[in-house]
Amino acid sequence: MLWDQKGVPQKGWTCEGVTDLGSPDGRCEMCGREEIRYVHHMAHEDYEDLLDVGCVCAEKMEDDYINPRRREQDLKNVAGRRKRWLTRKWKKSRSGNPYLKTDGFHIVVYPLSDGSWGGKITDLGTGDAVTNKRPYADAGSAKLGAFDGMVFLKGRKVASAGGNSGAQG
Ligand SMILES: [Zn+2]
Repeated sequence: MLWDQKGVPQKGWTCEGVTDLGSPDGRCEMCGREEIRYVHHMAHEDYEDLLDVGCVCAEKMEDDYINPRRREQDLKNVAGRRKRWLTRKWKKSRSGNPYLKTDGFHIVVYPLSDGSWGGKITDLGTGDAVTNKRPYADAGSAKLGAFDGMVFLKGRKVASAGGNSGAQG
């Protein structure tokens, strides 16, 4: 329990990001509570290490009772979308490859000559395209990889615009 510990600031922390562990396997470094699924990575200028904590402690450390919960909700939404991602209606491109247009991106996956799968995400606004670095075993994992890439690109876009997140689907 770090809350009572000398040298550990109680307020003035900022969040560097949240991780979804996928299951409640985490432990809050601040209060010791277990069964944490969403881990908030907290930083403080007067404290050397990042602390991985749960939502309740993140709220206290930031003295913010809205945004930590919102960050978790965003991750929950993403997890829900990822679950539904493969059951969405993928269209077929002229060359027969499955593609989707969503969230301002064009996403296509395609078989490579060695039987593995690749994927490409194009930002419809800027025309910037990103292809995956390593091949996927099958079309399904290529689609999920593209989803993760899309979420990452979207997050970067939101961060640079300083605005709020876009539509959910
Ligand atoms: Zn805690």
